[in-house]
Amino acid sequence: MVNKRKILIAGGGFGGIKAALELESDENSDITLLSDHDYFRYYPALYRAATGGRSAASSIPLAEIFDGKNVKLVIDEAQKIDKDQKLVRCHSGKGFYYDTLIIALGVVTNYYGIKGLAEYSYGIKTLEEAQRLRDHLHKLIADEGKPDLNYIIIGGGPTGVELAGALPAYLRHVMASHGLAPKKFHIDLIEAMPRLLPAMPAAYSKAVTKQLRQLGIKLYLDHKVQAENTDSLTVSGHDIKSHTVVWTAGVTNHPFFKNNDFALSPQGKVMVDANLMSESNIYVIGDNAQTPYSGLAQTALYDAVFVASNLKRLADGGLPQSYKPKQPIYVTPVGPHWAAVLWGKSQIYGFVGWLLRKAADFAGYRDYEPWWRASEHWLAANQSEETCPICAKH
Ligand SMILES: Cc1cc2nc3c(=O)[nH]c(=O)nc-3n(C[C@H](O)[C@H](O)[C@H](O)COP(=O)(O)OP(=O)(O)OC[C@H]3O[C@@H](n4cnc5c(N)ncnc54)[C@H](O)[C@@H]3O)c2cc1C
Repeated sequence: MVNKRKILIAGGGFGGIKAALELESDENSDITLLSDHDYFRYYPALYRAATGGRSAASSIPLAEIFDGKNVKLVIDEAQKIDKDQKLVRCHSGKGFYYDTLIIALGVVTNYYGIKGLAEYSYGIKTLEEAQRLRDHLHKLIADEGKPDLNYIIIGGGPTGVELAGALPAYLRHVMASHGLAPKKFHIDLIEAMPRLLPAMPAAYSKAVTKQLRQLGIKLYLDHKVQAENTDSLTVSGHDIKSHTVVWTAGVTNHPFFKNNDFALSPQGKVMVDANLMSESNIYVIGDNAQTPYSGLAQTALYDAVFVASNLKRLADGGLPQSYKPKQPIYVTPVGPHWAAVLWGKSQIYGFVGWLLRKAADFAGYRDYEPWWRASEHWLAANQSEETCPICAKH
């Protein structure tokens, strides 16, 4: 019997799942996907989960994705690598040997040591965080008819912008569903740089800024958050009263790489070569790798397909191809039926942008699922939870 090549994939997110799906048809490989939880976090839908969207859109069981596939699923947390023995040790004490290791562990939240943020702010990086924020919004509004109406979002990147855009309509909906007359609320968006979406072209940033202002969002650009306590946030020397502060402004690379002596770039990402290899037999992809468009789901997908196709080439006795970074299509929804799109050099704003976002969401699910399941999740992404999570009212 021929010894099968052991391919271990660490991380059950955009990159890791795609790599496993691309490789699973190879009969000469044993594919193991190691993930610290048993579902796939579909991050682009999380801002919707925080503002009343259905949780089914942002959490897809791994068992469903890999049903009938030639992939062994292991739910455990990768902690240490013994690179000489080619062995990954996990939290449970178990170890997994590999011939080839693909790592896609994603990033973790970073509060940059700002006092109080870790204790008092909300986040939307996991479904649990998004639901905690949604429940909190309901609780404050339903609170004996004296709603707390100051909301602060920190971070003018895509996540902060999307959440700020979705919040006004949702707050109005929650007030109406609790039988409250519409009340004036304040949503502040704070960004340390002089403009929103600083990584995007100035015209894109300007159009998004205008749209947010039309939705009534107050922007604090060039403002730095200094501290948070139980009922206020200190921003550039001034206190703003709020019991709802959402932190979307910082992530940092997974600590796994520092703990295991990988070579890191000044940005803290893993240095990779033209094959996305960081060292012998170890590939690093997606958010973890120092590549030009790292930080986007589309890049993680692209990297996974690239590495899988090179592994197939090598198995067939061929030579690997070199990585050519691919510029992603940027889509930022801002409020109902409006989105900004940057596609190559073209920029599209408004309803057509929003339709493109809907199409992109469907394509996103389709990357992982057959069309009927992708349709279910896509529909869920466009629906709302029926009841108030606090008092079970509609
Ligand atoms: C709120 C939000 C919205 C976003 N929206 C968009 C968008 O609209 N478009 C876009 O292109 N990108 C978006 N992104 C970015 C995109 O989600 C990431 O770029 C993408 O998830 C990166 O894929 P990855 O495979 O590198 O990491 P991930 O998808 O994060 O996958 C990493 C996986 O590894 C698991 N893991 C972590 N540690 C361990 C461990 N020690 N052992 C085992 N498993 C572990 C994690 O739990 C996770 O499942 C968004 C991100 C966020 C947070």
